[in-house]
Amino acid sequence: MALRQLVRAQPLLARPLIAPRATSLLAPRFAAAANISSSSRRSDVPPEARIPPQPQQDIPVPPKVGPSAKSEGSRPRRFLRTFGRVTLVVILTATGAFLYVTQQQNHPPEQLPVDRTKPTLVVLGSGWGATSFLKSLDTEEFNVVVISPRNYFLFTPLLPSVTVGTLEPRSIIQPTRYITRHKKRKVDVYEAEAQEVDPVKKTVTFQDLSDVRGSAGSVTIPYDYLVYAVGCENQTFGIKGVPEHACFLKELGDADKIRTKLMDCIETAAFRDQPQEEIDRLMHMVVVGGGPTGVEYAGELHDFLIDDLKKWYPEVADRLRITLIEALPNVLPAFSKQLIQYTESTFKENKIDVLTRTMVKDVKEQAVVVQDANKEIREIPYGLLVWATGNTSRQITRDLMNKLASVQTQRRGLVVDDYLSLLGGDGIYAIGDCTATSYAPTAQVASQQGIYLASIFQKLGQKAKLERQLNELRATSADPAEIEAVAKKLSRASKLTPFHYSHQGSLAYIGSEKAIADLPLFNGNVASGGGAAMLFWRSAYISTLYSVRNRTLVLADWLKVKIFGRDVSRE
Ligand SMILES: Cc1cc2nc3c(=O)[nH]c(=O)nc-3n(C[C@H](O)[C@H](O)[C@H](O)COP(=O)(O)OP(=O)(O)OC[C@H]3O[C@@H](n4cnc5c(N)ncnc54)[C@H](O)[C@@H]3O)c2cc1C
Repeated sequence: MALRQLVRAQPLLARPLIAPRATSLLAPRFAAAANISSSSRRSDVPPEARIPPQPQQDIPVPPKVGPSAKSEGSRPRRFLRTFGRVTLVVILTATGAFLYVTQQQNHPPEQLPVDRTKPTLVVLGSGWGATSFLKSLDTEEFNVVVISPRNYFLFTPLLPSVTVGTLEPRSIIQPTRYITRHKKRKVDVYEAEAQEVDPVKKTVTFQDLSDVRGSAGSVTIPYDYLVYAVGCENQTFGIKGVPEHACFLKELGDADKIRTKLMDCIETAAFRDQPQEEIDRLMHMVVVGGGPTGVEYAGELHDFLIDDLKKWYPEVADRLRITLIEALPNVLPAFSKQLIQYTESTFKENKIDVLTRTMVKDVKEQAVVVQDANKEIREIPYGLLVWATGNTSRQITRDLMNKLASVQTQRRGLVVDDYLSLLGGDGIYAIGDCTATSYAPTAQVASQQGIYLASIFQKLGQKAKLERQLNELRATSADPAEIEAVAKKLSRASKLTPFHYSHQGSLAYIGSEKAIADLPLFNGNVASGGGAAMLFWRSAYISTLYSVRNRTLVLADWLKVKIFGRDVSRE
């Protein structure tokens, strides 16, 4: 009877506790149990005392769920089931695509061998200009040689994040050999510094200047075409003490050096019995240059202070001061006015001192001498000094300009025509920061120039192929219609369109999870600052990173910092 009561009670319990499908699976078991129990009783009691057979409705059956109750219960269930299946399919597809792409990138196909009979194309550099050129270049028709003292491509926009450990250095670099290994024809890559370009003899001389050197000295090779993309070096305006005492922020090694020196300053400030004045000096981080690099570095430093320093170095964290020095009346001169104001007010909130109209006159080991807006000279003690004041030409570029002095008259850099061909240099093309054009020295310009130049070389390769084909057709007295068709193709391949730069906007991170974005829209401009701009800044850089590997590592670094914070150990 107890079982029966339980069975009778079941429909009441079943609705809220057991899902309809589970109920229908359980129901036959209850039914069988009820039948067994009633038949066993039948054998030991007299027939008249037997309980009359129960009407059909007394046999425990699965609870009948009315149409309204059914739809109420099953709709969320159906939704959850569909959602679960869709999620599973998405996860499996994304994982499959990820594995496919990474494996494909990791196992490049066989390449055509180097062909020395093809025109020799020498590429100097492995930065934004050279890398975007190499990425888009069809190497089949050329004997390509890449020479650069850096055997990798560096994604400079995220370099400030490396200085405080938001990103790991290797997350934002891609080996040049990885890039060239994916080309159709093999490419020679030399980790070396070009020392001289002879535009008359059409030769390049280069040397391995790394720490480990073999017995091979400097090498000179001839070129048919030279793509000159050596970038620039740091501008110091000849101010005394800058190279000795300041840290630059241009190369990966610079970011490492800043990170180490920053931690050294903090540890020394936290040293026992350190005088108060010395703590203030050591914890004063001075940034010279109010362009995007200086502003982004100051922003990253502020994040480091708030997120990590207060936690791990509470005794000195509050003593950290950040000062940004700029000679112009405001920071970020290339951005729109409201974004300049937004940045300056954010810096004020974040207690970053901005000294505008202030010029550095001298850099001493522990203090920077400035002339302020009132023309007063004063000394600012510092622990770490970061120098981010722009570019100047490299020695090799200045030498090349001197060799072509009659046409290379700009001190800013190399003068090129509308097709990026160097004035006075036969077969030489120059792109990126080393040129003096009407464009700002940015990664955007350099990479667009690289892509454009690759299209020029595509046409040059096509032209060489068609010329060979035409000569063969003429030699074999082929059908005149066929000769004419090839001649037409040749004339099309000879037509070149000038380089046109398309500005995609300017972005900068300013700290406290805020960024600024100046984006061109139709004929106008959209200026935005704050958290949404920061998300845009992040997604824009994730999508422009070189490879899936870079994207994965950068995303993992961001996640790692969110979970564990930045690593404060000093290397
Ligand atoms: C910290 C930082 C942040 C930046 N952020 C942005 C940004 O957000 N957006 C933006 O558009 N731009 C940004 N820029 C600017 C951008 O990085 C440059 O404009 C861009 O790198 C220029 O490309 P390039 O190819 O001319 O020179 P680089 O990228 O500097 O490349 C020059 C290459 O030449 C090599 N080289 C040097 N000397 C020799 C030699 N003698 N022989 C052979 N090779 C040589 C170098 O090793 C290097 O590989 C940033 C720059 C910095 C430093």
